[in-house]
Amino acid sequence: MPTELERVAAEAATCTRCRLHQGRTQVVFGDGDPDADLMLVGEAPGFHEDRQGIPFVGPSGQLLNRLLGGIGLRRQDVYICNVVKSRPPANRDPQPDEIAACRGWLDAQVRLVDPKVVVTLGNFAAKTLLETATGITRLRGRTYPFQGRILLPTFHPAAALHAASRRVGPSPLQGMEEDFQMLAKLLAETGPALTSPIPGLPASAGPAVASTARVPAPAADEGDRRPPAPEAPGAEPAGTEAPDDRQLGLF
Ligand code: SF4
Repeated sequence: MPTELERVAAEAATCTRCRLHQGRTQVVFGDGDPDADLMLVGEAPGFHEDRQGIPFVGPSGQLLNRLLGGIGLRRQDVYICNVVKSRPPANRDPQPDEIAACRGWLDAQVRLVDPKVVVTLGNFAAKTLLETATGITRLRGRTYPFQGRILLPTFHPAAALHAASRRVGPSPLQGMEEDFQMLAKLLAETGPALTSPIPGLPASAGPAVASTARVPAPAADEGDRRPPAPEAPGAEPAGTEAPDDRQLGLF
């Protein structure tokens, strides 16, 4: 007898609610523990994910696994999905109508997995779930209430990989390491307090950030979903498959 989450996943596998179904290899619904306390939400499937049907399986996924391992979690301990479930052509940004069409699947995942903590990966997922125009650089470093849970925004792993490969600009990887230490504390706490809003959001400050061990970063891969990381002022964006880096930018 399939679980409700399995039933919803099977229904989503044939979804044609938006134009993204036309170019996908398959729907990338979600992966991991259906009863996880932690859900990670990215933006959309990339090349590797579209081929394999599993979110975060390329170099970004390797880095994510290492960050999870750094706080004592295995991939199978968490649930991972994206805001949209079908790969946008040429890794372009999902359009508002595509996000709206797909939102029901994400809401069902949140309801059925019922995590205590949701971590958004990248600018796009944070802005979508928090319904804000505030960029990830300002959003990260604290927690926010989200559907009766705790939401912790951090960078997208592809941003960290790209910055590491170019050795320019700010360090999203260091920021992610700090955010994952905050995440470890959140998960260890039975009743994390919500406090301290930022402008425009009913936000809360997270616990103090602990010192972190550095996480080795795998090499960047152009097949990864997300485009280049935040750039130094005046620097030209790189990457062949997704030239638009707004979603990972510091805006
Ligand atoms: S992106 Fe979402 S709404 Fe659009 S076809 Fe894929 S599963 Fe359906």
